Amino acid sequence: MTSGKIITGLTKEELEHDLLELGEPKYRASQVIEWVYNQRVTNFKDMSNLPDDLREKLSKIYRITDLTPVQDSRSNDTTKKYLYQLHDGRYIESVIIPATTNVNGNRSSRQTLCVSSQVGCAYGCKFCASGLDGFTRNLETSEITGQLLAVEEESKKKINNVVFMGMGEPLANLKNLMHSIKIINADWGLGIGARHITVSTSGLAPEIRKIADQPLQIRLAVSLHGASDDVREKIMPINKKYPINDLIESLQYYNSKKKHKVTFEYILIEGINDSEEQAKSLANIASSLRAKINLIPYNKVEGLHWERPSEKIQKNFLNILIKNKIQATLRKEKGHDIEAACGQLRLKKERSEMTKAVT
Ligand code: SAH
Ligand code: SF4
Repeated sequence: MTSGKIITGLTKEELEHDLLELGEPKYRASQVIEWVYNQRVTNFKDMSNLPDDLREKLSKIYRITDLTPVQDSRSNDTTKKYLYQLHDGRYIESVIIPATTNVNGNRSSRQTLCVSSQVGCAYGCKFCASGLDGFTRNLETSEITGQLLAVEEESKKKINNVVFMGMGEPLANLKNLMHSIKIINADWGLGIGARHITVSTSGLAPEIRKIADQPLQIRLAVSLHGASDDVREKIMPINKKYPINDLIESLQYYNSKKKHKVTFEYILIEGINDSEEQAKSLANIASSLRAKINLIPYNKVEGLHWERPSEKIQKNFLNILIKNKIQATLRKEKGHDIEAACGQLRLKKERSEMTKAVT
């Protein structure tokens, strides 16, 4: 169980406010922050420029982080997954996508971390492993920022790009999402530029407007996966609540407020959304919003029956977009592992423990 507040879930201003209330001067907050984000200490005892009694007092009230690494990291050619246990026994995963490939499968010098925003997901998209067991709970701010700190600690690599494409729907956890982004973006915190933070959503139109209204120039990706309501509805139940026209209106509003245009993610699923007609409708939507498109060949999920289309169909779909002057990419086979990791996280560990508990 968690004891007290978690430092990595607070902004500098919030910690200053707390410490003032404890009768401590404001500069103590800067010292603590410096230890946590620059020196990366995980224990108040090691904060050697704080008086002993203050270290003692802080350690009674606060904890620095509340993620416990589980020795279960799995690697493959392109990505590495990190598994963490939360204070209530749940598990989450984060995935590092190393320097040679980025989420588009292109060469890049970035270290991208794909983070989770919830335990499970309530939206039940038909192609996605994350939603298979339904929704458990939102992640706390510290459980989001903690993924970056913990992965940097374990991997010994500096993360310079963050994508909210792991488990969960980030815009359904908007308060903690934005709170964590403040800390991830802050110079005193993880120092990652807003342009290097991407939030992916299944299309929560009202929350897209809220993202447009907040000041940071973070990037937005939208999981479209169907270019007409009949097709999208079959794949993504959220489309019943926010049909494509509502989504487009919210994105027009977003465009009016932000420098960067949105990127659409479009998984190609054989016989479901890969027709030429869908490609043409997709091109129309993208061109009206000046959006880019990432085509992603569907990755088979255990327990789900769909397949990815042949390479010929994938390329034909891409060519229709390009002919219509859309900036589009098709994730290459090399990127296979990336999608397998990012956006397709399922709590195998939790499932196996639940099975054990039942038997
Ligand atoms: N809830 C958010 C973010 C998490 S999912 C959203 O839906 O956007 C992020 C992305 O993971 C999805 O858009 C999709 O592009 C990818 N994804 C999920 N399941 C996949 C699968 N079976 N094959 C390929 N990509 C998948
Ligand atoms: Fe949830 Fe996104 Fe998966 Fe849909 S694609 S079930 S919104 S995590």
